[in-house]
Amino acid sequence: MIAQYLALKAEAQDCLLFYRMGDFFEMFFEDARIAAACLDIALTGRGEHDGERIPMCGVPVHAATAYLQRLIKAGHRVAIAEQTETPEAAKKRGGSKALVARAIVRVVTAGTLTEEALLDARAANWCVAVGEAGGDVAVAAADVSTGRFEIFETDLAGLGATLARLNPAEVVASEASEIDATSHRPRAQFDSAGGETRLKSLYGVATLDGFGQFSRAALSAAGGLVAYLDHTAKGALPFLRPPVLHADDASMAIDAATRESLELTLATGGTRKGSLLDSVDRTVTGAGARLLGQDIAAPLMDAGAIGARLDLVQRFHDEPNLRETLRSSLRALPDIGRALGRIVAGRGSPRDLGQLRDGLDAAWGLGERLHQLAAPPPLLAEIAPRLQGHGALIDLLKRALVPEPPIDAAGGGYIAEGFDAALDDLRHTGAGGRRAIAALEADYRKRTGIAALKIRHNGVLGYHVEVPARAADALMAPESGFTHRQTLAGVVRFNAADLHEAAMQVTQAGNHALAAEASHLEDLTETALARRHEIAVTADALARIDVAAGLAERAAEGGWARPALVDHACFEVEGGRHPVVEAAVARAGGRFVANDCDLSEASRLWLVTGPNMGGKSTFLRQNALIAVLAQAGSYVPAARAKLGLVDRLFSRVGASDNLARGRSTFMVEMVETAAILAQATPRSFVILDEVGRGTSTYDGLAIAWAVVEAIHEDNRCRCLFATHYHELTRLAERCEALSLHHVRAREWKGELVLLHELATGPADRSYGLAVARLAGLPPATIARAKSVLAKLEAGRAKTGGLAAGLDDLPLFAAVAAQEADAVDELRSALTAIDVDALSPREALEALYRLKGLA
Ligand code: ADP
Repeated sequence: MIAQYLALKAEAQDCLLFYRMGDFFEMFFEDARIAAACLDIALTGRGEHDGERIPMCGVPVHAATAYLQRLIKAGHRVAIAEQTETPEAAKKRGGSKALVARAIVRVVTAGTLTEEALLDARAANWCVAVGEAGGDVAVAAADVSTGRFEIFETDLAGLGATLARLNPAEVVASEASEIDATSHRPRAQFDSAGGETRLKSLYGVATLDGFGQFSRAALSAAGGLVAYLDHTAKGALPFLRPPVLHADDASMAIDAATRESLELTLATGGTRKGSLLDSVDRTVTGAGARLLGQDIAAPLMDAGAIGARLDLVQRFHDEPNLRETLRSSLRALPDIGRALGRIVAGRGSPRDLGQLRDGLDAAWGLGERLHQLAAPPPLLAEIAPRLQGHGALIDLLKRALVPEPPIDAAGGGYIAEGFDAALDDLRHTGAGGRRAIAALEADYRKRTGIAALKIRHNGVLGYHVEVPARAADALMAPESGFTHRQTLAGVVRFNAADLHEAAMQVTQAGNHALAAEASHLEDLTETALARRHEIAVTADALARIDVAAGLAERAAEGGWARPALVDHACFEVEGGRHPVVEAAVARAGGRFVANDCDLSEASRLWLVTGPNMGGKSTFLRQNALIAVLAQAGSYVPAARAKLGLVDRLFSRVGASDNLARGRSTFMVEMVETAAILAQATPRSFVILDEVGRGTSTYDGLAIAWAVVEAIHEDNRCRCLFATHYHELTRLAERCEALSLHHVRAREWKGELVLLHELATGPADRSYGLAVARLAGLPPATIARAKSVLAKLEAGRAKTGGLAAGLDDLPLFAAVAAQEADAVDELRSALTAIDVDALSPREALEALYRLKGLA
């Protein structure tokens, strides 16, 4: 047995091996130690291997899902080795000591789950593969729980952003690749030509042109992904819909650091709660929540498509009754996308078919309702017909299944009465047999005169007669017609010829009925599978309606406005709010102060100063979130909003706010800032919060100063820059598109009052000491700080302060031009030299001359 185990374990590689033994999955050796610790179950021992006792632990098969869940959550992968023959078959094959044959039937990994219990109903579960070819990079992503299959073209620099957008459960790459992945698979599986062949055979097509133009990298990624899924499912490929290709510039570029800092779909702790997604999500179905997550993670760049989504939201926003009807029908809807995923993966149950029936039926009803709408918005006109068209399947399932089919098919009882006359007959025969047995009980009692006689049933004896021990003697006589089977303390059990006959009838009919049901289940599953792509399209349409109705609900609830998206780079928000902070302020009994923002061409860079806790970060973020929401096709938390499409969004927070990350935070801050300066375009939107504060005052001010100048002169993007360096306000004099703003505060009766209200101009003072008092610094310390401050300020007045001399600094553009000139002089001197004509001495002189120019 250990030899068989070790062979399977070698095949399972770095997965834990669940080795099926009867009613348990057992783990041995190191696997047992890992699993026992992770699952908090007893570690025992069994037999010996190389002179040592073998560590072992096990989990019951019927409860395996819960244990799997914990192992997968903890980052493990589990290979399941099942018994592939019955013990009887093994005995027949190899005698009484023969080992039952076993094989790995599935590898359970975080990215390939379909089980309801193992998945979050409201989040997609992506398994991604990264492919590379000639410098291009592509990411293929599959959510096998619903069959989504998407391919993203990118490059090495954009890979991080693409992965961050998907937040995958698992990343697979070629073993030849340097990319950080959860598993590395054989290089051959990422070969682009092989990938093309694999995709063609998967979809039974001669060319992939129908799906779009695949790059070599895309074929490599898709091929590698399909090969991996094939490997984990051991040849039974899960549900994969035709792949959808995404170009890199189809959505707003948002890198990982920006996502994290804006908490778009996940809050800082990695939870959904506290994120933007959580605060806007009013969807009522799992599929709707998953789609909304995707929309927010990837705001669109196509004004037409955004407008189409907004038209739908507006219709539901303007018609509350319609919205309420739709939402209450959707609320009752089962998750047909996931039910379908389980059915395709071969893990479907009668209940999953029941869910398809109920879901498709409800979709049909919704379709009818939407069909009656006058002048439907174009997106609705497009998707409403997709809700219908499964009439024959719905009818079939309605006739075939009982109202609430069970999850477990083994016990039968899911095929409805009247669907199959032969099955009904078998059931009647079985019921007749059971009635006959009940009649026999009364008959035996009368015949034997034993009132306590009972007919019972168990797994070992089947139907049998049971009497109290004291009354058993009468039945022991051969002529009584009863045969003795078992004597227990207190009771004796017998068999009887007529009972045996009736029992046979019951069991036989029961077995035949079970077989008949199983064969119907297979047929029904086949019929549903034949329509899997159409069913998935219906599930998508339902999700889109749920998302639009949910956004309309959120907009109505919060008094949000429909944003106007325009072609030129502007950003006008009146009465903007931060949905997450607003909710927190409201919970604390406060009122959120709405603020305007206007980044027109003439003032595209706002420098925001003001006391700590004054609301600077909140203001910056709320505007970034408004851009995300608008381009995702949502209303925005503002009284009015008009914005030009944002191609790239950046958000950076100064290092000291970010200590939790535990890296060299100033280094991180600078790397991330460098990325903005390299990538932001005039259509981008950048928020910088206290950048430069991760280092000493002078360094920090100098860096902040240079960054603001570079953004203003070179990137020319829309930008909000919050800083506590008051000195930066001098930049307003030299940068024509930079304007000064501050969050207002007032000292009232010695108390600091933060008004959270934006005003133009620089802050008049820093209020640092007032904030310190607010924070509870002892009065003596505050008094001491006050006198230190007075000294410092006196010194500043004399010397001109921290920023003394900055006024003489030439403009950023002028410096850059000067440097460019110098380089050019060097270049022209270099080009002027005819190397072939130089003597060694002249060459040396030329070198000195060039060095002088550098
Ligand atoms: P800063 O970046 O200036 O230090 P924050 O933006 O972090 O300040 O805001 C600090 C706190 O002030 C927030 O957590 C919130 O409670 C409150 N706050 C911020 N903006 C507003 C606002 N517009 N209206 C009401 N309260 C606000």
